[in-house]
Amino acid sequence: MVIELTSRQEKIVQIVKDEGPITGEHIADKLSLTRATLRPDLAILTMAGILDARPRVGYFYSGKSTLQAIGESIKNKTVNEVKSVPVLVRENATVYDCICTMFLEDVGTLFVVDEDNHLVGVVSRKDLLRSAIGKQSLEEIPVSIIMTRMPNLVITYPEESLHDAATKLIRYQVDALPVVVEDDKEQGKMNIIGRVTKTNITNAYVELGNEGL
Ligand code: ADP
Repeated sequence: MVIELTSRQEKIVQIVKDEGPITGEHIADKLSLTRATLRPDLAILTMAGILDARPRVGYFYSGKSTLQAIGESIKNKTVNEVKSVPVLVRENATVYDCICTMFLEDVGTLFVVDEDNHLVGVVSRKDLLRSAIGKQSLEEIPVSIIMTRMPNLVITYPEESLHDAATKLIRYQVDALPVVVEDDKEQGKMNIIGRVTKTNITNAYVELGNEGL
């Protein structure tokens, strides 16, 4: 859970940090408030994992600031939890085929595979637009000549953190990453089990925000 602390809650956290373990009664005394007034604040801080409460001992600081809690929440999410279904085309597909698939499947990036379903390339909207500028018929251009190909692909793995995947999207300025696992029968060859896009990241961000509501 992610919350924004009120100034009174910040004060409570500071007191517990400095003097914990400390009873609710003592915290109330220090703030010249009643124990009852403080109860909701203490409940919120405990639920948020910022303070810990032990019977007969009192409150102590659990070591997590709100920012740390947010950071952990982001870093604990894995690619596997948010990935969507990948949309694949064969390397002998034409640019025309790719445009149709992109519209039908409602995606912005296609992953290109060989006959063994191993990842060989990526094709984006702009790649297709670029080839449409030329004079050649779109039904004659194979995707393999316009795609970005291995080993220049930026990829992610199911167990990678969503934060690391998002960092790759920003660093390499791409919209989507194929989620891959190595083929155990053929070393170095990748099977595609999903896709992570800016939309997945945005969804995860919104969910994270909702947790704090
Ligand atoms: P667009 O610019 O079409 O909206 P991108 O920003 O994703 O989409 O693509 C920009 C370029 O990067 C394209 O040439 C595309 O082939 C390439 N590209 C897209 N995704 C990847 C990836 N995961 N790894 C390497 N190159 C990629």
